[in-house]
Amino acid sequence: MRFFFHSGYVAPLPAGHRFPMSKYETTRDALAAAGVCFDRPEPVARDLLLTVHAQPYVDAVLAASVDSAIERRIGFAVTPAVALRASLSVGGTLAAARAALAEGFAANVAGGSHHAMPDGGAGFCVFNDLAVTTAVLLREGSARRILIVDLDVHQGDGTAVCLAGMAGAFTLSLHAERNFPVRKASGWRDIALPDAMEDSAYLDILAAELDRAFLAARPDLVLVQAGVDAHANDQLGRLSLSDSGLLARDRMVRSACIAAGVPMAATLGGGYDADVAALGARHARSLLTLAGQPIEPAFFGFTATNRGLDAASDGIMREADQG
Ligand SMILES: [Zn+2]
Repeated sequence: MRFFFHSGYVAPLPAGHRFPMSKYETTRDALAAAGVCFDRPEPVARDLLLTVHAQPYVDAVLAASVDSAIERRIGFAVTPAVALRASLSVGGTLAAARAALAEGFAANVAGGSHHAMPDGGAGFCVFNDLAVTTAVLLREGSARRILIVDLDVHQGDGTAVCLAGMAGAFTLSLHAERNFPVRKASGWRDIALPDAMEDSAYLDILAAELDRAFLAARPDLVLVQAGVDAHANDQLGRLSLSDSGLLARDRMVRSACIAAGVPMAATLGGGYDADVAALGARHARSLLTLAGQPIEPAFFGFTATNRGLDAASDGIMREADQG
């Protein structure tokens, strides 16, 4: 089971920037504490970026000379380190998808840059790793039907636009209706959810949508955008999922893939919390759950007890829900 990480996933931003860049390191650390070892991805080749991105934009990013209006939409300046980070992030998702096709599951400890459009980035996203990976694998015939399950609290608008009209590409996005972006794109299947939705209502909808999506798309590969910003504590999200709700979400996605016999590659996606260690643990729990790995009680901030792990986790999550 392979997890892709590169130290270049962390690019320096100005002090106090609201994007939690260090969460990639805290997620890696939390995964490492659970015994995960990492593979290093290569930066994606320029010509593969051109499968969905416009050539002038790709070259501007690679030269770190992006128009300031586009940089404002992205939310930070595209420095050489940010450009390398963007290429590595696409490389990581592509590598994870290839590994998943060979082995059943793999994850990129970055990626899910679903707001990036063909001709410019947006919302902290520079290149669209999900769209590039889908376009490359379909073009080369490694997969014929790819379903993107985007569970970030924000709509996967860039992915929908990048893949519009591409045969074999299917995008499912569950997102908060009132979250960014204000103007939603039209994907294959878009489910806009009301503010403050909690676990059971969310999970009912997800179960129905996964059933429908697997039946209609009949994918031979699933890419998951496993953003954790639907969590109640998230600074930017408008939904109210608990720790156990996110866990159930990820178990449900994994079960759907297993039931259909379809390999899955997971990407990190969004998550915003002033407590970056807690945020990293939240992302790590999500990836481990998608991978089918047991979650240690220590991941919830409590010391492991000699009770059964599942019983301990349930009790801890009940306490966490009440707190
Ligand atoms: Zn998000």
